[in-house]
Amino acid sequence: MKLADRVAVVTGAGSGIGRAIACAFAREGATVIVNDLAVARSRETVDAMGAAGVRARAVEADVAESRAVRAMFAEVEREFGRVDVLVNNAGIGSSGGPASEETAKRHEARIGELMAGGAIKTHWDVTERMTDETWHRMIAVHLNGTFFCTREALRLMKPGGAIVNLSSVAALTGLETVPHYSAAKGGILSFTRAVAREVASRGIRVNAICPGYVDTPMTQPMSALMKRLTVSRTPLHRMGVPDDIARTALFLASDDGSFFTGQWLSPNGGLVMQ
Ligand code: NAP
Repeated sequence: MKLADRVAVVTGAGSGIGRAIACAFAREGATVIVNDLAVARSRETVDAMGAAGVRARAVEADVAESRAVRAMFAEVEREFGRVDVLVNNAGIGSSGGPASEETAKRHEARIGELMAGGAIKTHWDVTERMTDETWHRMIAVHLNGTFFCTREALRLMKPGGAIVNLSSVAALTGLETVPHYSAAKGGILSFTRAVAREVASRGIRVNAICPGYVDTPMTQPMSALMKRLTVSRTPLHRMGVPDDIARTALFLASDDGSFFTGQWLSPNGGLVMQ
C-alpha cells in the first residue's frame, strides 16, 4: 500500500486519466476526493473503485472558479483535516465546435498536399481564428485551475506532501493545432518548477507529467486518419491508456518518487524524446 492513510485530491477524476489515477490511488490505500464538474461522473469513479471506494468522496467543483475551489477544500478540511496529495488533472481539449472541425478539415487537406509532393497551400490559421472566449476558458481551466487548487492544498499540506500536475507533450514541443492548450500546459510546467523550489523547504514535492496521446474521451474527436498518423509516429506504435499515466502519477505521489521535485516525466511511447 503505497498511499496508506494519505488523503488525496484528484481533479477532473470523473473520466479518462483522472479516473484511472483516482482508482489507482484508492487501490494503494488512499482516501480519495474525486472532483469533477458533474458529481454524477465523480460518483461513477467512486463506484469503479469497488471496495477501495468506501473511503472516497465525490465532490463537484469547477476548478476554474476560485470560490468553488475554496469551498471544496474547506469541505476536505472539515472532514479530513489535511491534504497529502493533490493531482491537478482537470482539463479540456479543443472545443469540438466549428473551429475544431475547420482545423480537422485543414489537417486532412495538408496531408493530401504533402502526399501529392507539392507545397503546402492550406495554412492552419488557428491563432488568428481563435476567439477571446476560447483562449480564456482554456487558460482558466488548466492554468488558473492548477493555481487555485495548489493554493488551497498547500494551506492544508504537511511535510511529505506531493503535488502532481498534468501537463502534456504540447508543452514540450508546442502543438500547432492547439496554441492555447500548448500555452496553458507550458504555463503549468513553469508553475510546477517555481512552486517546487518555493515549497521544498517545507518538505513538499511538486512534479508534472507530460503524457503523449492517450485514448480517453478527450482524444475521441481525433479522426481515424489522425489517430493512425499519431500511432505511426510513435515508436512503441500505440496510443497510451489511462493506466500508463496513473502508474506515473502513483510513482510521483508516493515515497517511490521521494527524490523527485520540479521534474516532468513524459509517458509518450517515444513520440517525444528529450
Ligand atoms: P477527459 O477524459 O476529458 O477528462 C477530463 C475530466 O476533467 C472530465 O471529466 C472533465 O469534465 C473534467 N473537467 C473539465 N473541466 C473541468 C473543470 N473546470 N473543473 C473540474 N473538472 C473539469 O480527459 P483526459 O484525457 O483524461 O485528460 C486529463 C488530463 O490529462 C487533462 O489535463 C489533459 O489536458 C491531460 N492530457 C491528456 C492527454 C490525452 O491524450 N488524453 C495528453 C496529455 C495531457 P467534462 O467531461 O464535463 O468536461
